[in-house]
Amino acid sequence: MAGVSEYEYDLLVIGAGSGGVRAARMAATTGAKVAIVEDRYLGGTCVNVGCVPKKLYSYAAHYHDSFDDAAGYGWQLPGPASFDWSTLRDNKISEIKRLNGIYQRMLEGAGVTLINARASLADAHTVTLHEEQRDSTVTAQKVLLATGGWPWIPEFPGSEYAVDSNQVFDLETSPKRFLVLGGGYIAVEFASIFNGLGSETHLIYRGELFLRGFDQQVREFTCAEMERKGVNLHFNTNIERIEATQDAYNVYLTNGNMLEVDVVLAATGRKANIQGLGLDKVGLELDETGKIPVNDRFETACPSILALGDITPGPELTPVAIAEAMHLVESHFKEGTPEALDYTTIPTAVFCHPNIGTVGLSEEEAREKFTNIRVYSTNFRAMKHTLSGSHERTLMKLVVDDATDVVVGAHMVGDDAGEIIQGIAIAVRAGLRKHDFDRTVGIHPTGAEEFVTMRTLTRT
Ligand code: NDP
Repeated sequence: MAGVSEYEYDLLVIGAGSGGVRAARMAATTGAKVAIVEDRYLGGTCVNVGCVPKKLYSYAAHYHDSFDDAAGYGWQLPGPASFDWSTLRDNKISEIKRLNGIYQRMLEGAGVTLINARASLADAHTVTLHEEQRDSTVTAQKVLLATGGWPWIPEFPGSEYAVDSNQVFDLETSPKRFLVLGGGYIAVEFASIFNGLGSETHLIYRGELFLRGFDQQVREFTCAEMERKGVNLHFNTNIERIEATQDAYNVYLTNGNMLEVDVVLAATGRKANIQGLGLDKVGLELDETGKIPVNDRFETACPSILALGDITPGPELTPVAIAEAMHLVESHFKEGTPEALDYTTIPTAVFCHPNIGTVGLSEEEAREKFTNIRVYSTNFRAMKHTLSGSHERTLMKLVVDDATDVVVGAHMVGDDAGEIIQGIAIAVRAGLRKHDFDRTVGIHPTGAEEFVTMRTLTRT
């Protein structure tokens, strides 16, 4: 609770990303005196170099298919469609500036003091502000570390030629030939984006099949669909070295092949953004994954220092950081003790083309956890593609615990999978049974109705 304090602020937040901004605003609405320190852009990774620009670029890439699909519906385009990268990039920059302004107004409107500086911990209640000309200090009863993550690139000869996911949005020109290293969210999303924008696209992944940890059938289906759309997938290989030539890069792979491309994106994961944060000043240590451990109340080993979002263990997802922020404010600035945040059944989407939406357990995880499971799956050509002539297919899948009939996993690969799975996630989260899905009337004609009409058991 806010009250008379010996400190300048009740809460000082370091980092104005999704989690930090939400925590600052919500704490301020309880009457707490709050400041937020940021030396880069407001909104953090998600708004500036993550979810938002990625989704805009993904929309741009989808037009490629839409132009092709339109002919079967009678639309004649005046000529072959052409794409202008600088229009997309510059419109994206304007939109993000608009969002930065909204973030600023939201913070100011909530009464949060915005401090433009780089911050580091000095002690358990003191933060040093590094501004251009001088350093100063500020004190707070609680300090929240919300500095997020930063892209990480492994070292190999020529790795300095690779761009990271912060840089790829603002390339000078659109690459004719694009290569991405990695098999996670960012790699498959950008492979789909540049493929859709017309680049010859290569994805290099060191394992058997990308999207490790996702449902196996989802991974295989996505692989087939991305290949069908023209992405060149190279599995079981890695980059050995990159050599720069006059106007391109020669990328030598460990399987002996060489690819000549214009841009190499390394999408090889992110690390907690803790450089220069002064964790040693308050005795904080990282766990084995390089993150800051916290308890249910988001307190670090130094109780006045809190942390949330990508700097802590757990899924690196904006809605998770936001949920953590809400929970942190409930725990520290309101009466009562909220239940610990539940990290199970967090839905997620991968905006590759076609999109993946998923919630709950994969088939493989369910087999491990339950004695018997039932799997219902369907794989069809969406109605839209009868006339469009596209061969794109959609996968939908429910995983059920046989003993209780509870749906423990729902997966989709296809148009708007994220939109559809968000709704299904409520049912899975609520622990509804397959019987409840079956007695729900479908909406016709949609693809989503398949989630309530899958009656035939695929396998046990
Ligand atoms: P991920 O951790 O998802 O994937 C990293 C990939 O890089 C993995 O395929 C990994 O391989 C591979 N890799 C790691 N080290 C090396 C190496 N030394 N050489 C070659 N390959 C390597 O990270 P991303 O960068 O894709 O994304 C970061 C996080 O951001 C995601 O995990 C996700 O939480 C979040 N995100 C969410 C999005 C969404 O919600 N749609 C979109 C984008 C990001 P291996 O599998 O073998 O370990």
